[in-house]
Amino acid sequence: MNLNRSVRVRFAPSPTGPLHIGGVRTALYNYLFAKKHHGDFILRIEDTDQNRLVQGAEQYIIDSLRWVGIEPNEGVGFGDGPFASYRQSERKDSYRQYAEKLIQNGFAYYAFDTEEDLENLRTANANAKYDSTTRLKLNNALTLSPEEVDMKLAKQTPYVIRLKIPANEEITFYDEIRGKITVNTLEMDDKVLLKSDGMPTYHLANVCDDYIMKISHVIRGEEWLPSAPLHVLLYRYLGWEELMPKFAHLPLLLKPDGNGKLSKRDGDRLGFPVFPLQWSDPNTHEISSGYKQNGYLPEAVLNMLAFLGWNPGGTKEIYSIEELIEAFSFERISHGGAKFDAEKAKWFNHEYIKSKSNEDLALLLQPLILEKIGSFEMNYIAAVCGLVKDRLVTLNEIMSYTYLFNNPELYTEVNLTKIKTIKENLSLEALGEALHAILEFNPLEIENAFKNFASANSIKMGELMKFLRVSLVGELSGPAIPDLVALIGIEKSLERVGNCYNQL
Ligand code: GLU
Repeated sequence: MNLNRSVRVRFAPSPTGPLHIGGVRTALYNYLFAKKHHGDFILRIEDTDQNRLVQGAEQYIIDSLRWVGIEPNEGVGFGDGPFASYRQSERKDSYRQYAEKLIQNGFAYYAFDTEEDLENLRTANANAKYDSTTRLKLNNALTLSPEEVDMKLAKQTPYVIRLKIPANEEITFYDEIRGKITVNTLEMDDKVLLKSDGMPTYHLANVCDDYIMKISHVIRGEEWLPSAPLHVLLYRYLGWEELMPKFAHLPLLLKPDGNGKLSKRDGDRLGFPVFPLQWSDPNTHEISSGYKQNGYLPEAVLNMLAFLGWNPGGTKEIYSIEELIEAFSFERISHGGAKFDAEKAKWFNHEYIKSKSNEDLALLLQPLILEKIGSFEMNYIAAVCGLVKDRLVTLNEIMSYTYLFNNPELYTEVNLTKIKTIKENLSLEALGEALHAILEFNPLEIENAFKNFASANSIKMGELMKFLRVSLVGELSGPAIPDLVALIGIEKSLERVGNCYNQL
């Protein structure tokens, strides 16, 4: 790719709710592209639709990007840049001049239609758009005399500014993923650029900011593709076509069955998170689960998202962020939608957990263990990690292993019945002596000691193991007994054995 201007990309969410993983993927692709080309990655908050703002959403977006580790180097909540604000509402007044410039050059016009006028237009014909076929029947600067327009403006009659879309013109532009795209203006309508409250619409603010912020590539979801021809016209009419960014519209993220776009509601309905972080709705107080709180590692989430709609080729799937940056290109982004796969998300997480060092994993697990189980030394937690990390799909699954930290709380009647027979042949004292006699306390030696003890006391090895398992774990499953004894030590093992024995 010939990049003759420095790469500056932006992630431009509207804070109308929590950022869903589709949004995180868009941010990720922007980040990867920026890093690959040593460019800038900007976070711009598009909050011009004040009615749809949701309290806490902006902070949630910032926290989410921070958690996954794709931090913009410029923008709201991150590094300072050359612009006074990266929040559009705070630069509200700066957009009007562009709308007025369009009016002066004959590309836009004031429209004074009331809700009722617009309603009438739709009643006459349900498919009617505000466009070249209808605008001359409506209440705007194209049908009113200049004096009437001036008078209305002087009287502060509410108005909007609309773009005057030409009739029957082909607009062609190039999408980095989809190639050449041509749209006829007959399919478009005279979109509002400036609203009656003085706020720019998404279209105006978005195009102005991309130009002002020197954005080189607009990388965004496919749902914005229908807006692209309008944006192309805006660049043209504002005289900015030379510096128009390149467009790359990303494939949609689909529901697991491929039936439609993955929605914010799908997560809890289908049993997997669709949000990076837990979200509590400020109005309904409804809680939606997040990857973080479900025990996912941010690296795993990123790796999983990177592969939803892009593929570097080959069979390797575990890519560090550096490798993703190196391998990323628009050419390998798929055209069709990418089906979300919750099992694959688990697979990635499991792989990342397994590959962590025991010490690193212990650091990650320590807060959860402290909160739910108790306070333990880091070394001990690391040893536990060594024993169980191959079995953990999420960090939270450590909660299935509380017996590695504390004595089992309860021996169920069912399990006790299964091990009762051992009572007549077993001497706890002798078992204690056998364990204390081990010279090198490691799983292999512990296993040997158990074997010798079983044969010396006429106990079947299987029976002894079952008894030990119930005693130590409280259940009939779990890691190998010698490993377990090596981890929790002689005293704790004997304490549990004694507790269980006394209940037989
Ligand atoms: N504010 C738009 C959104 O919420 C941004 C679209 C774009 O990137 O142009 O997704």
